Amino acid sequence: MQKMLNAYAELEHSIRNLMTELFSETCGMCTACCCRADICEEATGSAFLSLLLKKQGLSERDMDEKYGWLDLHGCSLEYGRPPICYAYYCDQLLSRLPDDETRFSARILGNLMQHIGENALGGWHLVEIMDSKDLEKLDYPTLFQRLEESQAAFHVIEGFMQSGRLTAADHEVLNVITDEAP
Ligand code: SF4
Ligand code: SF4
Repeated sequence: MQKMLNAYAELEHSIRNLMTELFSETCGMCTACCCRADICEEATGSAFLSLLLKKQGLSERDMDEKYGWLDLHGCSLEYGRPPICYAYYCDQLLSRLPDDETRFSARILGNLMQHIGENALGGWHLVEIMDSKDLEKLDYPTLFQRLEESQAAFHVIEGFMQSGRLTAADHEVLNVITDEAP
């Protein structure tokens, strides 16, 4: 489990940094922030995300009743955010992206954390598991495979943001994620 937590946190950290770089100009000026305390609460209800909170020295007691994990600088969680926090793009944000290929890449980027935990226990997503004992029953080989797929897609998107080009091989890597996107 520790190996999965470390690798998951590392990838989430990288995704968070890239999204901040790409979108902070628009989201930083936004007066209709899409963060909501009920979404923040998912991080404390989920057994897996709670372990990620603990890893950074946080617990439910540290969450603000009204603003959740949001502070003046944005979301205060380094990692362990509910995957939906990365997947949502408002129309304004999407319309500011230069072309369809960038919008496609951004959408995949937003789905990478969601992809890792799909069907982690029967039909349950990893972050929907509430009982920590159920984490022992996870199919770890499949979970690590999904993590590797998300890591590979992340590197493709990082490359695209620099080169502005996606090859046929890049699309193959990204399509693994699109097939599973919520
Ligand atoms: S995604 Fe849209 S609504 Fe949410 S913070 Fe960014 S600009 Fe605002
Ligand atoms: S990004 Fe952070 S503050 Fe915003 S809804 Fe998600 S957990 Fe809450």
